[in-house]
Amino acid sequence: MLQIGCPWCGVRDEDEFRYGGQSHVTRPALNCSDAEWADYLFSRDNPKGVHYERWLHISGCNRWFNVARHTVTHEILLVYRMGERKPDVATSQRSDYLGPRSERE
Ligand SMILES: [Zn+2]
Repeated sequence: MLQIGCPWCGVRDEDEFRYGGQSHVTRPALNCSDAEWADYLFSRDNPKGVHYERWLHISGCNRWFNVARHTVTHEILLVYRMGERKPDVATSQRSDYLGPRSERE
C-alpha cells in the first residue's frame, strides 16, 4: 500500500485517497479544433517513469493536491499543492509532506 503525504494532513495510507488522473492538463480555448478538443479529453501521458498526478484526500481534508510518482516503483517523489508550479523532480528538493524517508520504508 502506498503511503501518501497530504500537504495538509501528513502521511496517510493510500486507501484514504482517490486518484484524479494526470495533473497539469490545460483546457484549450473554446475556439480550438476538434482534434485539439479530442486530445484534451482523451489523450494522457503514460510514461514508464515519473508521472504527475492529482490526488484527493477524500477520507481526510477533502482537498486536491499534486503528486510526482514513479510508475514502475510507485515511489512518490514530490507532493505539492494545487496552484503551485510543476516542479522538476531532478532538481527539486524532496517534499516535506512525505515525512522522513525512514518512516515510509
Ligand atoms: Zn488531507
